Amino acid sequence: MDYTIFAVAVFVVALLVFGGVVLIRPRRPGAGKDAPPAEGSGATATAPAPEEEGERAGAAAEAEPQAPPAEAPAPPAAPEIETPPPSAGRLVRLRARLARSQSALGQGLLNILASDTLDDDAWEEIEDTLITADVGVTSASQIVEGLRTKVKVLGTRSPDEVRAMLRGELLAQIGPDMDRTVHTGPHQGRPGVVMVVGVNGTGKTTTTGKLARVLVGDGKSVVLGAADTFRAAAADQLETWGARVGAPVVRKDEGADPASVAFDAVSRGVEEGADSVIVDTAGRLHTKTGLMDELGKVKRVVEKKSQVDDVLLVLDATTGQNGLRQARVFAEAVDVSGIVLTKLDGTAKGGIIIQVQRELGVPVKLVGLGEGPDDLAPFDPEEFVDALLEEG
Ligand code: GDP
Repeated sequence: MDYTIFAVAVFVVALLVFGGVVLIRPRRPGAGKDAPPAEGSGATATAPAPEEEGERAGAAAEAEPQAPPAEAPAPPAAPEIETPPPSAGRLVRLRARLARSQSALGQGLLNILASDTLDDDAWEEIEDTLITADVGVTSASQIVEGLRTKVKVLGTRSPDEVRAMLRGELLAQIGPDMDRTVHTGPHQGRPGVVMVVGVNGTGKTTTTGKLARVLVGDGKSVVLGAADTFRAAAADQLETWGARVGAPVVRKDEGADPASVAFDAVSRGVEEGADSVIVDTAGRLHTKTGLMDELGKVKRVVEKKSQVDDVLLVLDATTGQNGLRQARVFAEAVDVSGIVLTKLDGTAKGGIIIQVQRELGVPVKLVGLGEGPDDLAPFDPEEFVDALLEEG
């Protein structure tokens, strides 16, 4: 009898202990919870009422195995700031592209020069080859004259001598000693200011974005001004470029006064102690007077805040004489201090470098060699001529 009572007592205690464990076992976080509201569904997560919570706890205890805990929502990804390559060595990196587009010209000239007898026809052919490559008539005839004199002096010529001779003549025309510095540095506590001008479609906005990358790659802080207020897309495009390298972009509504955008961009650059401000301008070739008024005003207004250190004219190398005509109009409208020749990867007519410098009297400072974000490089005459004379 005593034994039976003892057995019943053990059973009751065991039952109580088991029941207690089940009831007080803590709920695993998230187990059995409703799925979180889908992003953007408009539903808000509210805390369940206490009695509801109790019911759910019981249900959760029964529903084994339990669902794994819901993962915490990922924080919004911060835009990744890129570190572009510095300006030094860019043309070397892009040299293969330059050689690909320009070496047909170099090889054409070398082949003619290598022939045993150089008669008038051969010299004419050399001149035509140069003119076809957009070198320009005056420069082409000067190159031929220089080569003729050297050939007379040399007599028989080895391939290396021919190459050196041509290299020397081309370099002399390109002007190895021209100052090609893009003046982007800060001075007297103010940022360097660069205005980018040119006809729509030449690659002006792209060049502004690429130049910002060159400067950031060189360790500079940059503010961009989207003063092409006639095209909202241009400001959007510039914002994307700026965001990738952490450069703020000053913009206003479509149709706003370009000069006021440029002024605000430079003011922001001054306030933030930026090294450089680059202003992208509108490139509508409406009337020459309109263009002069507009670009002149942008420059004057900016200069109330800080001097404009460089006015870069963007020219599409594939547009030849038509591009040159447009360049002349811009050069009359505003004091151009440097040329950016874009799309040099897409044409064999690299001779335009010689012609445009001669026509406008300003140096080519940068060249565009592709659509990639870092396909803009400081122009180096020796690298250019060497790529041109590279064997294909
Ligand atoms: P914008 O109207 O003058 O501002 O011209 P965009 O900057 O919008 O450029 C026009 C087009 O030219 C775009 O598709 C660019 O990617 C392209 N582009 C710009 N520079 C170069 C270059 O150096 N090489 C090549 N292949 N395309 C370029």
